[in-house]
Amino acid sequence: MRIVRTTPELRLALPEGRRGLVPTMGAFHEGHLSLMRAARAECQTVVVSLFVNPAQFGAHDDLGRYPRDEERDVRLAEEAAVDILFAPSAEQMYPKGFSTWVDVDVTGGEASARPGHFRGVATICLKLFNLVRPDVAFFGQKDAQQVAVLRRMVRDLNVGVHIRMLPTVRDADGLALSSRNSYLSDAERQQALALPRALAAARGADDPVAAARAKLNGLEPEYVELLRVDGATLLTAAAQVGSTRLIDNVVVEGDLG
Ligand code: AMP
Repeated sequence: MRIVRTTPELRLALPEGRRGLVPTMGAFHEGHLSLMRAARAECQTVVVSLFVNPAQFGAHDDLGRYPRDEERDVRLAEEAAVDILFAPSAEQMYPKGFSTWVDVDVTGGEASARPGHFRGVATICLKLFNLVRPDVAFFGQKDAQQVAVLRRMVRDLNVGVHIRMLPTVRDADGLALSSRNSYLSDAERQQALALPRALAAARGADDPVAAARAKLNGLEPEYVELLRVDGATLLTAAAQVGSTRLIDNVVVEGDLG
């Protein structure tokens, strides 16, 4: 595996053939690894980007304490047979004078809860798509609205990349894996389980939003909403547990392509 830190180096490192890209912010867990394995199964060259993107964090978000462990990430990416790990500095991605942003017009869910978040996500992903020129880019259903935003961007701006969405990987107790789960104390983790349980329990209900709200077990949600993604309706929710912000979703109708 090659570790590449600059954009000129990345351009030179890319061979011909079918390319898969897995954009990440590091602190790898089984969710990230499932995307890398899917890319490995389908592509000749697998590129994983590792970049904690400041542009997608709000002023009061957890950018400063976001978990970072590059040594461990390098080892796990190597074990997943990744070809290129692109780990640029913030200066590489946002050089002095940077002033072009991709703003996908979207509301609801994370877009309303975290103004500016998807602008940061769309901008960094378009940059990565332009740099790597992947045939397929792999994302997790855990961030389903992010996938919807990126599919919209790719269609609207004629970016020739297929956006693949893979299922959410969960711990045995049902909590969706997230780099942010490392912030949770044992007691908070128990509280956090109400989120996946409420979503799962609300699945067959006439009013899934009300049903999920009723089962949150004292957890105060930031939002519980239905979200259309491609052919499916998702029940999505965000909740703060202590100082940790968690999101999750389940399909309540249709199928995710
Ligand atoms: P992140 O490093 O949190 O920005 O996530 C990088 C990619 O991994 C995104 O496409 C996420 O949707 C995906 N991802 C994060 N958590 C999970 C999970 N539990 N299951 C599947 N994919 C995930």
